[in-house]
Amino acid sequence: MDYLPLFLDVRDRTVAVVGGGEVAQRKAVLLHGAGARLRVIAPRFEAGFERWLLQQRAEVRHEPFTAAALDGAALAIAATDDAGVNGAVFAAGRARNIFVNVVDDGSAGDCLMPAIVDRSPLIVAIGTGGGSPTVARRVRAQLEALLPQSLGALVTAAARWRARVKEVLPDMAQRRRFWERWFDQAAAAGLASDAAALDGQLQRALAAADGAGAPRGEVWLIGAGPGDPDLLTLRAQQLLQQCDVLLYDRLVSPEVLDRVRRDAERIYVGKESGRHRITQQRIHELLVEYAARGLRVARLKGGDPFVFGRGGEEMAALAAAGIPVTVVPGVTAALGAAAVAGIPLTHRAVAQSVTFVTAMGEAAEQLDWRALAAPLQTTVFYMGVAQLSRIVARLREHGAPADRAVAIVERATLPGQRIVTGTLDDIAACAQSAGVSAPALLIVGEVAAHRQELRQG
Ligand code: SAH
Repeated sequence: MDYLPLFLDVRDRTVAVVGGGEVAQRKAVLLHGAGARLRVIAPRFEAGFERWLLQQRAEVRHEPFTAAALDGAALAIAATDDAGVNGAVFAAGRARNIFVNVVDDGSAGDCLMPAIVDRSPLIVAIGTGGGSPTVARRVRAQLEALLPQSLGALVTAAARWRARVKEVLPDMAQRRRFWERWFDQAAAAGLASDAAALDGQLQRALAAADGAGAPRGEVWLIGAGPGDPDLLTLRAQQLLQQCDVLLYDRLVSPEVLDRVRRDAERIYVGKESGRHRITQQRIHELLVEYAARGLRVARLKGGDPFVFGRGGEEMAALAAAGIPVTVVPGVTAALGAAAVAGIPLTHRAVAQSVTFVTAMGEAAEQLDWRALAAPLQTTVFYMGVAQLSRIVARLREHGAPADRAVAIVERATLPGQRIVTGTLDDIAACAQSAGVSAPALLIVGEVAAHRQELRQG
């Protein structure tokens, strides 16, 4: 390790910033935010910077840098565009035994400013030893996406409860388990920054942990989106990195499975129409069994769990068994398909409502076909390809014109994705000659005709 990472408490300590330009200003703002007493030295200041400094009641020295400017400072930042001046700041710092950061040339000083992910009081600092600021920024962007905004509030709440938890759970291993569990659950539930809710939750968790040693399992019902792993929500990614067990469906793509914690146990519960069909009842049993063992179970479903995903049934079964459930929404296939096909599901003067329907089985007969055939209406049929001719016939019977626009989106957002367009009149023939197969969905409505136009725009 070439550098020792440290977090400094600079409140009410003097920090000297040498430079009057934009770079110096950025550092001054950061230091001010951390509570430092600022002393800024430069012969000239940019107007905005100087105004800001006066507002903050900072000490402003309108003069060229001299070594004495560092007297009494705890830290110095050299932020000029003159390597000679920056070198003089470093030499003066050395002589006074204080650390000097030279902005934009870490090797010219003896401390570096990291890239920061700020979830105060939780702070992640990233350094590359000055080797590549770009890599540091990229890593920061990845962490920004991965770390929920609510982390800071979680730390603050944990700090409030630390002493009390220690009292109730004197055993260190037990305490550590308590905090880990609490953190995972709070992060999963997305308890955000609501301090009162966090306190209530900690109080309950502590009451439950007191005496009862066994950890409590839970189930996360997670939407995997249409297939492209980049369409997972941030919360889905966070939870998939934490689960002990994963139960997943046929529609969950291998690319999404790659984002799941490596050492989680994986159980495939896809309902193939073949011999080894796992019943919905069996899935409920598995979910309950694993959670009852105290495990964190991710139930991953294609698209959104609450859109033709039987998520409601699983939630009810878990609730009946007294197991906590968290639902994480996903991008449902209709939205993924519309996006990749460039078809707006609603569009001024073309479609004022959109309906998602499943075209499978008996239930299809109960649909209000007249409403689906009406003008100014978009209908997305899930699981519809095998039923294509029937869907077309029903819509025609109920008044939809033969030239109503239609699009089929096959494997939306996945490798090999295809889009077939036509009208009610010819779509069945088009689909057949293209050899369309599942998973695919059918978008019926004039919006489908707006696709080309939008692409060119
Ligand atoms: N819960 C899922 C839907 C499950 S039903 C969701 O919200 O998307 C399964 C049907 O969804 C498939 O038969 C197909 O019609 C549709 N589907 C799922 N993924 C798809 C994809 N990548 N491309 C096209 N259709 C898809």
